[in-house]
Amino acid sequence: MDLYEYQAKDLFAAHGVPVLPGSVANNAEEARAEAERLGGKVVIKAQVKTGGRGKAGGVKLADGPDEAEEKANAILGLDIKGHIVHRVLVAAASDIAEEYYFSFLLDRANRTFLAMASAEGGVEIEQLAVERPEALAKVPVDPINGVDKAKATEILKAGNFPAEVVDEAADVVVKLWETFVAEDATLVEVNPLVRDPQDKIIALDGKVTLDENAAFRQAGHAELVDKQAEDPLEAKAKAKDLNYVKLDGQVGIIGNGAGLVMSTLDVVAYAGEKHGGVKPANFLDIGGGASAEVMAAGLDVILHDSDVKSVFVNVFGGITACDAVATGIVEALKILGDEASKPLVVRLDGNNVEEGRRILAEANHPLVTVVDTMDNAADRAAELASSASEGA
Ligand code: GDP
Ligand code: MN
Repeated sequence: MDLYEYQAKDLFAAHGVPVLPGSVANNAEEARAEAERLGGKVVIKAQVKTGGRGKAGGVKLADGPDEAEEKANAILGLDIKGHIVHRVLVAAASDIAEEYYFSFLLDRANRTFLAMASAEGGVEIEQLAVERPEALAKVPVDPINGVDKAKATEILKAGNFPAEVVDEAADVVVKLWETFVAEDATLVEVNPLVRDPQDKIIALDGKVTLDENAAFRQAGHAELVDKQAEDPLEAKAKAKDLNYVKLDGQVGIIGNGAGLVMSTLDVVAYAGEKHGGVKPANFLDIGGGASAEVMAAGLDVILHDSDVKSVFVNVFGGITACDAVATGIVEALKILGDEASKPLVVRLDGNNVEEGRRILAEANHPLVTVVDTMDNAADRAAELASSASEGA
């Protein structure tokens, strides 16, 4: 889960990383009031979960409450890379002597954590990474040893931080590491980390990604979910513990096992090319035990997606054999009753497949078509979605 900047800075503050005071405003009047409360120069910043806000006109300085209101008005409603600005952060503004870049992230490819640091931070960091990668230090971090002051100093020196700031910046880096570990983050990024004219080191921006697999031990993180921005189908699936991701196609997908579901998406996208360009509507992995309840919960989510025109159930019977899955499908359709209203193409294979197919044939549900192979089933599901779309 990606956080908004203001949420990231709240976590920073809780772990002792220096940030400037401020709070989030829903409209220009609230921005004015916050500027009054803070006094002096403030910065108004679009709260959207994407970078490059500065370049897109989403970060503006204001001299006082009047200007804060005016700048907030200019920023609210902006479209930044497809994200509409609904809220702004109003924070005390800093004068900047230098802008640096610092981040910790999970380096999946190398199975370790990574620190990245550069004395040349700011809005051109992407360009720097491409044009002069040597100016962006990448230092692996051993998860057991973590980051103490000595390690932080090593990282900052590798990033060419000026000698006179390394000591204070290293203290900040240790606190960023504490944030990263304590919050179960997969990314903590500060760009810019600044030196102000009084030589204070401050995190002026913050980007944090939390590991949702750690939610069970991070009770506080549930509050950070942006309920308004959450897709309602994804929220419903999450409430039922389903592994679901909404996509923008028309063929609903249910499978068991992430690998099988991923390849089902590919096969349906390929088949869809012959049928008016229909695409998979979602990722849904119902896991190993495809019980009737889980199948019903999955179908319930998918059938309530108004984009879905047909559903492809692709199950490989293993520990849960095909006959149990077939019974699950039949029972799920009973549970759903009239709410099941879209054609289902079912492909079963694996353990006890004959019995599974027999159960489906016997149930003879008007919405269900059983197809033997994955390719043919994908083709049939795409064809049904395509003809339903034309009819609509
Ligand atoms: P981003 O463009 O989405 O990464 O947003 P940032 O928060 O990084 O802001 C972009 C740029 O705006 C920064 O690199 C700074 O140069 C500038 N900026 C942000 N906050 C302040 C501030 O408090 N004072 C000053 N002078 N500039 C700021
Ligand atoms: Mn930034």
